[in-house]
Amino acid sequence: LDRIEETEPKLNAYITVCEEEAVKRAEIADRELEKLSKDEVPELFGIPISIKDNINVENVRMTCASKILENFISPYDATVVKKLREKGAIFAGKNNLDEFAMGSSTETSYFGPTRNPWDLERVPGGSSGGSAAAVAARSAIASLGSDTGGSIRQPAALCGVVGLKPTYGRVSRFGLTAFASSLDQIGPITKNVEDAAYLLNVISGQDAKDATSARVPVPDFLAGLNNEVKGLKAGLPKEYFVEGIEPEVKEKVLEAVKKLESLGVEVEEISLPHTEYAVETYYIIAPAEASSNLGRFDGVRYTYRAKDYKGLVDMFCKTRAEGFGDEVKRRIMIGTYTLSAGYYDAYYLKAQKVRTLIYQDFEKAFEKVDFIVTPTSPTTAFKLGEKTADPIKMYLSDIFTIAVNLAGLPAISIPCGFDGKGLPIGLQIIGKAFDEATILNVANVLE
Ligand code: GLN
Repeated sequence: LDRIEETEPKLNAYITVCEEEAVKRAEIADRELEKLSKDEVPELFGIPISIKDNINVENVRMTCASKILENFISPYDATVVKKLREKGAIFAGKNNLDEFAMGSSTETSYFGPTRNPWDLERVPGGSSGGSAAAVAARSAIASLGSDTGGSIRQPAALCGVVGLKPTYGRVSRFGLTAFASSLDQIGPITKNVEDAAYLLNVISGQDAKDATSARVPVPDFLAGLNNEVKGLKAGLPKEYFVEGIEPEVKEKVLEAVKKLESLGVEVEEISLPHTEYAVETYYIIAPAEASSNLGRFDGVRYTYRAKDYKGLVDMFCKTRAEGFGDEVKRRIMIGTYTLSAGYYDAYYLKAQKVRTLIYQDFEKAFEKVDFIVTPTSPTTAFKLGEKTADPIKMYLSDIFTIAVNLAGLPAISIPCGFDGKGLPIGLQIIGKAFDEATILNVANVLE
């Protein structure tokens, strides 16, 4: 709590600091501790963890960084939060994000932008920018974020920390405010790979409350961290090392690949030919699902309601017009358009078909290689305001992360050096479905 107080005036990485709630829970935990023998003490006993503010923590405000939820108090714990709590974790606060997780810079937050601890004039990435900045500044030991198109990995890269997006279905989404339900996954943002494995162990597993959570066994992700990587095969997709990428980013990623080679990993160039359609495909599918998911914020069920209105329809319209920010409205309009009669076949259905082609690219690649290495982001952290006026520019910052969500695969971003300005560079390792163990293992040997 002291560290939060010290860093917050500069960073704005938290929307809510749950001081009272955290202290209360810590006191309860203390009393319980007296009754426990040493080996009964839960693994995460007393460890403060911060949570992106689109995930529910019981009795704590959850805003999704939106005016429309400014005063919403969560009546329940998300499954991931419940699981952490059962292991003794304490929730110190709720991290800032782009409004409803729509963005790549944490600048669309109703509560103001978060700043990058490495350079306060620059963005931390997004949408889990508050989580990544907090972990980088050590005002959180670890955080949970959500990743729909890169929102865990890209901010982790821009802040020099570790971010893991699990396989779609590995972690329950119950209690995560839905943005694009077929893409969203919750995952850890941590100081190092070991902590990521640790948290993934705790939050993984099928959940009766999320029908898309998968019934697959959960291995011990810590156990395999130091396995030998000799003999593994890595793929370098040629489509990820082309125009638009900063030379220093490319250089550092290729240096890490050299290191893998020196450890006995076989590296080969691969092709993911439909990569060039990933951003376009995503920006049809994600807004379509968002436009449907955000229908629930109507002034009736959740807190914010416009003051002056004439009748029900006017109340809906004014509440949404006043409650949502520009980026959210842009997505709702695009999504409503692409789902409407006459356009559905041309846009949404077409995008779903391209999504299958993107998935098949990965399937083919994984017949030959065990994992894929790419940069996480084409650039290091950019300046605040640099991309806010041009949504397309902003959308392109996720060019290396988005295909992974469309294919439902796991991927991790780890730091791999700095550019000439002293800003961290991130490297992404993409794995086969439900094979987080391999990418964690490779990430750990590179760390
Ligand atoms: N930046 C992407 C978007 O704005 C991804 C966001 C996310 O992963 N939540 O949609």
